[in-house]
Amino acid sequence: WRKHNCPPDVETLGNATWTLLHTTAAYYPEKPAPSQRESMKSFIESFAQHYPCWFCKNDFQQSMAVEPVQVESREKLSQWLCRRHNEVNVKLNKPVFDCTKVFERWLNGPPSGKCD
Ligand code: FAD
Repeated sequence: WRKHNCPPDVETLGNATWTLLHTTAAYYPEKPAPSQRESMKSFIESFAQHYPCWFCKNDFQQSMAVEPVQVESREKLSQWLCRRHNEVNVKLNKPVFDCTKVFERWLNGPPSGKCD
């Protein structure tokens, strides 16, 4: 249930943000040009500075310090992001996502063609 006339809580904001981030990674080039790598690195690093949930942001920045963002390819970026999201899932006792399924979830859809 979403209250669309109120500011987002941490859950609503998080769900919308992961949708944007995973989808952005899924559409990132397979072979990005140097300028695309640069701008993606800036985008993720700026995101980590400005995400409007201070405890989320702090943990995300710490995680990025341990494993800096990988912008070499669509696959690398998507897998890096999947690992970051799984760290949050573990923290919140949510199920860990199978990162081999990241393009099925965020790019191609399930083999059956049916999304429920
Ligand atoms: P979400 O976790 O939002 O996931 C949405 C969908 O993404 C899932 O339904 C699933 O299909 C898919 N998915 C799940 N895991 C993965 C994965 N590893 N890779 C790819 N796809 C996946 N909340 C807090 O309470 N504390 C925090 O510290 C916190 N930190 C956050 C940090 C960031 C950077 C972001 C973006 C969000 C953070 N959140 C945090 C919010 C939290 O992660 C969830 O978004 C929120 O709890 C809503 O969860 P949800 O069940 O809607 O699913």
